[in-house]
Amino acid sequence: MNSTGILFVLCAPSGTGKSTLVRRLVAECPSFAFSISCTTRAPRPGERDGVDYHFLSREEFLRRREAGFFAEWAEVHGNLYGTPKAATLELLAQGRDVLFDIDVQGARQLRTSLGAGAYVFLFPPSREELHRRLTRRGTEDPETLARRMAAAKEEIAHCPEFDYWIVNDDLEDAYQRLKAVYLAEKCRPRYQEAWQRTLWNTWGLA
Ligand code: ADP
Ligand code: 5GP
Repeated sequence: MNSTGILFVLCAPSGTGKSTLVRRLVAECPSFAFSISCTTRAPRPGERDGVDYHFLSREEFLRRREAGFFAEWAEVHGNLYGTPKAATLELLAQGRDVLFDIDVQGARQLRTSLGAGAYVFLFPPSREELHRRLTRRGTEDPETLARRMAAAKEEIAHCPEFDYWIVNDDLEDAYQRLKAVYLAEKCRPRYQEAWQRTLWNTWGLA
């Protein structure tokens, strides 16, 4: 039994709809904290430093990496991304559930470095729809769009490593499934230490 929050990891090929779903889940479930990653990627229009990402130069990222600052890190689509370790551990120790929007390499490292959690893979309904969504979002030039489509295949190849699979075809249906996974995870005894103490006191159990 431990008293930490839930490690909730969501992976999907870029453009699948992860950010859309994560924003809603965090807004509707106040116990959630979003793990703010560091990245060397340039901010997209509307993205804020310290809210969406901590935007770092490559030099600064590498310096932090050498100092053991990250719980996991990976190079994705030509940029570096990493999860700050101390901030994450502090949130979990406070009993906050932490949501990670990271790639498959990062998910694998987190399992090793931080351990148990809910690992969810989100799929686009088809290749064509993934291409349409990336195009419609309008944040990628043709070269990075092609790179993200090629990477999608590699990421999907890792889906057997995940505990839950959700297809983001109808957005509402995908959201309800994602929330159901979260609520089911919360019912695990290991996340209910306070209730266990109450039970033991109430029923006089050892
Ligand atoms: P990701 O974070 O996975 O890269 P986004 O959340 O930015 O993806 O979504 C990519 C695009 O697809 C956005 O324009 C978003 O509005 C759209 N989108 C997300 N989910 C759906 C869905 N179920 N049906 C149609 N469009 C979607
Ligand atoms: P984007 O540039 O579209 O925001 O993210 C590109 C990819 O990097 C996505 O698959 C996203 O999940 C992943 N990513 C974002 N933050 C991290 C992180 O801290 N670590 C790892 N390993 N991947 C990340």
